[in-house]
Order: sequence, then structure tokens, then C-alpha cells
Amino acid sequence: MVQNTDSQVQKAILNEQKRQLEGMELIASENYQSEAVLQAQSSVFANKYSEWFPWKRYYWWQENTDIVEQLAIDRAKQIFHADHANVQALSGAAANICVYAALMEPWDTILWMDLSHWWHLTHWAPVTFLSKVFNFISYKTLENGEIDFDEIRRLARKHKPKIILAWFSAYPRELDYSKFVEIANEVWAIAFADMSHIWGFIAAWILKNPLDYGFHVMMTTTHKSLRWPRGSLILSKWVVSNPLKKPENTIENIPTRIDRAVFPWIQWWPHMNTIAAIAVALWEAQTDKFKEYAIQALKNSKVMAEEFINRWYKLVTWGTDNHMVILDFSNTPIENGKNAEYILDLVGISTSKSTIPDDPNPPFRPSGLRIGTPAMTTRGVKEDDIRIIVDFIDQTLKLIPFMQEKNFSEKINKLKSQVIEFSKQFPVPRIN
Ligand SMILES: *Cc1c(COP(=O)(O)O)cnc(C)c1O
Repeated sequence: MVQNTDSQVQKAILNEQKRQLEGMELIASENYQSEAVLQAQSSVFANKYSEWFPWKRYYWWQENTDIVEQLAIDRAKQIFHADHANVQALSGAAANICVYAALMEPWDTILWMDLSHWWHLTHWAPVTFLSKVFNFISYKTLENGEIDFDEIRRLARKHKPKIILAWFSAYPRELDYSKFVEIANEVWAIAFADMSHIWGFIAAWILKNPLDYGFHVMMTTTHKSLRWPRGSLILSKWVVSNPLKKPENTIENIPTRIDRAVFPWIQWWPHMNTIAAIAVALWEAQTDKFKEYAIQALKNSKVMAEEFINRWYKLVTWGTDNHMVILDFSNTPIENGKNAEYILDLVGISTSKSTIPDDPNPPFRPSGLRIGTPAMTTRGVKEDDIRIIVDFIDQTLKLIPFMQEKNFSEKINKLKSQVIEFSKQFPVPRIN
């Protein structure tokens, strides 16, 4: 037990438990794993080396690891309508690199969402290794936040990308997947979706699944709306042809190329404890309880959007189809998302700053704030509680013009103790 060995780490764990229980977690990408998932993740599978596929390993003694990995693969395929699943990439970031490496040669082009519009660092950025290897051309949304398909088509015809990438880290609407696929097919590109944020709702079959609309490859992190361990899935249609033979560069060979990119091209050995936990989480994802959770998270998000609009806040796209709401503070006394994130943090409410379409501000001080419901919904929050949460946020943001006043910290402390009282009513798995 940690408490009997390392008192310093034990203290940090206890403080983190307190923070998670008393705080209000509204960062759209965070969530709480279940007790069963945590247990599988800290199981003895952490001691075991494996590689390549179940039933085709290099190391011996895989009779148990093969079973858990095969379960994870079979469940993932069934839930997400895929013919092939790779469950080994260590994170979303690692999985994105594997997909790029599997499907592109150096200096091939990828068409992706612009930095100023909810980009994700692992899709491309000048500060990343990816910028040395691949050529990136970016598209944007229209001013109202809608995807500009005419622009995507124009850019695709001009630059002939190998990959057209859909999905981003802060987009509150459904995407028209068929339109992406139509353009990709026209220019012989691969349609790739990074579904990291909304995967939980696809698992519950309440948001659209890009594979059903002809997308060639999808990737997701497993710890966001899914509530799984920190890992990832790469899913596609078609099946592995001959794992021993270097595959030709065709669409039918996507699964073979992906498996080979994960091992031995880029990543090598997976973490079998995480794969065991992914298998457990996939089991949980098939239960009615998970479906109810996913439906509630979306209901909560809709109520949150309405409640902000009723209070005269400006929202990107004026609403939401998923678990996140993006407030736009441009031309308001709050000025930007950084100010909002800072003051909300003072009262124990975690959110994240976010860009808005064609943001006039730089990414470190963007105009928007992203607020998500998955974590608090796991803790049991319902529509009426969301109204209270929006009231806390509204009261806190209204203090921004008064930050220099004498009684500012008094007001903040009062709100903070109310936030703690409120949040503590809702339990967090493994913390009581
Ligand atoms: C979170 C996220 C990632 C990165 O996932 P990690 O597992 O944290 O590496 C990649 N893409 C998108 C869109 C994300 O939201």
C-alpha cells in the first residue's frame, strides 16, 4: 500500500482526491473511471510484456493476455461497426502518429482544421515533430461555425491530400460525414476521423458513427466521454490481409498498415493492463446504464446551452448537439476565455479556454471558454443541478470587473464554499 511506503506520494494522492471531490469538473475532456476499470488497470497485467497480435506473439506465456486483448478487439468491433480494431496505441497522440505513418509517406499532404478553429496539437502544429515530416493544408469554418465544405472541396482538388481529417477538440455540433467522404472519394484521399471527444455518445449509439457514412479510419482516445483508461482505439473497415507481408498501399490494406505502424514501425509494446481495462470498459459501454449516462450527459449539455442563452451569453453556433458548450466572450467585459478560466478556477470550477471561429485573439488568450458535462454527469448531476451550476458560473464571471476591489476575495471565498458544498453531494468513484 502506498500509505505504508511513500508518505509523500500518499499525501499528494489524498490531496488530489479531495480536489476531485470538492471541485466542479467541467473540462470537456475529463471524466471519472469506474471502480472496475481502475481495478483492471492496476492489475498484474502491468507485469507482462506482449507484442504484435493475440495468438501471434513473440514472447511466451500469453494465454491470459491473448484473452483480454481479443475481448477488447471483438467488443470494439461490435460496438463501433468496425471490421478491424487496434487497441494497442498508448494514447490518442500516439494513435494519431501511427495513423499518419501507416497511411502517408513523408511530405504527403493532410487537410485539417486550422489552428484558429479548435485544432488539436496532435493533428499538426509548427512546434511538433509532425511539421518536419508532413505537409499540412488547413480549412476553416464559416463565421457562424458551420463547416465550409466548398472550401474543403476547393483545397482538396488543388492540393490532393492523402488524408482529410475530421473532428476537432472543441466543436459543439454534429458533422455531415457523407460530405467529407464524398470529397475524399473524389480526390482519392482517406477520410480519417479523430473522434476523441464524442466517442462515448457513438458507443451509446446516440450520435452518428463516421464508419457508417463511409469514413475509412477512426481514432479515439478512451478516457474522455467514454470514461475508460487512458489509451486509444484505431478502427477501420476491411481486415488484415497477410500480417507477415508488407502490404501494398491500397484502401483495403488500411488495417494491415495500421497494425504494422503500431508494431513494429512506431510504437512497439503495448500496456496490457490498459488493454485489460479497455476490455472491461467496453463491456460497461454495452450496458443500459452507460446508455442512460450518455443520454443524460447530452440532455445536461442542452439545458446548459439554453440556460446560458437565457442569461444573454453568446454561444458558438448558438447551441450544442454534443456534450460541450462554447461561450464566446469577444466584445464583452469578460474579454477572453483566459480571464474566465482563471476566475472560475478561483471558486473551484474547472473549465478550459478555447478558440472561436476566426478568433481575433492568440491561442494562449483565446476568446472562448469550453464547458463540458461528461464528468459531472458521471457524478449524477441532472438538469436541475445544471441550472445551479450555470448560476454559479454566471455569478463568478460577473465578478470579473471587480477584481481590484477590496472585498473581491471575500466574495470569491463565499462562492467557493458554496461550490464545494454543492459538488460534495455527488460522489466520485473510489473517493468517499
Ligand atoms: C485528447 C485528444 C487527443 C489526444 O489524446 P491523448 O490520449 O491525451 O494523447 C487527440 N485528438 C483529440 C481531438 C483530442 O481531443
